[in-house]
Amino acid sequence: MNRTLAAARSVAIRAAHRDLRPDDPRSSVTPTSTNVVLIGPPGAGKGTQAARLARFLDVPTISTGDMLRRAVQSGSAVGRAVKVVMERGALIDDAMMTEIVAARLGEADTQSGFVLDGFPRTVEQAIALDRLLERRGHLIAVELAVPDSAIIRRLSQRRVCDRCGRNAEPAAGNGASHEGAAGSAHSMVCPCGGALQQRSDDTETVIRERLRTYDRATRPLVDFYRQRRALRAIDGTQAPDLVMSQIARALDAVFDHAAS
Ligand SMILES: [Zn+2]
Repeated sequence: MNRTLAAARSVAIRAAHRDLRPDDPRSSVTPTSTNVVLIGPPGAGKGTQAARLARFLDVPTISTGDMLRRAVQSGSAVGRAVKVVMERGALIDDAMMTEIVAARLGEADTQSGFVLDGFPRTVEQAIALDRLLERRGHLIAVELAVPDSAIIRRLSQRRVCDRCGRNAEPAAGNGASHEGAAGSAHSMVCPCGGALQQRSDDTETVIRERLRTYDRATRPLVDFYRQRRALRAIDGTQAPDLVMSQIARALDAVFDHAAS
């Protein structure tokens, strides 16, 4: 952990302790939890940052994409329905997603907070999330902003392990054509022994449809959280370490502000 992260974490912990002072009459009825939502187009790096941020904050990651992919792999009736919708690049409907997330938020490990990746994706889902989080502390939305052209370049080169779900991108900057990069990626093997494959929803046609869906359904969320001053926008085109340290700084400022 670098110094910025360590500093941000210690501020977060101090803020949490301040909120839990026993002489504070609200301490028994005002739970302190670190609830973070990551917003950004597919391929903005939400999965990577969600995992790092969750480790940093010591809270679980709730990735709806992972939960849905597990349902698809299980081959259940719900999983088959989910598969059809995902392969079209469309969204699972609000009621079903809210139900899946509500069940997860009912588990004990989420009481001290969480990093949500993939939910909410619509304003309706955000309103449902507010109801689920009543009396569970502040919610901060972090937007990872990445332009469409960069998303298409990233996702059409992305390979994902079919065993552990880890992302791998072909080495950049060697001047290889897309075909060349894809060819070499085909022979890549994950450290876990699984095969690195292109996801069925990472083809350019599906990526463009997912970006249109994002603009229509999810971008209004950015305004929704901005209006309540709960949004922090981060330039997601930067190196992952830099993105992470900027998220940590942004959360640090939120905690400081909330504590003053
Ligand atoms: Zn693997």
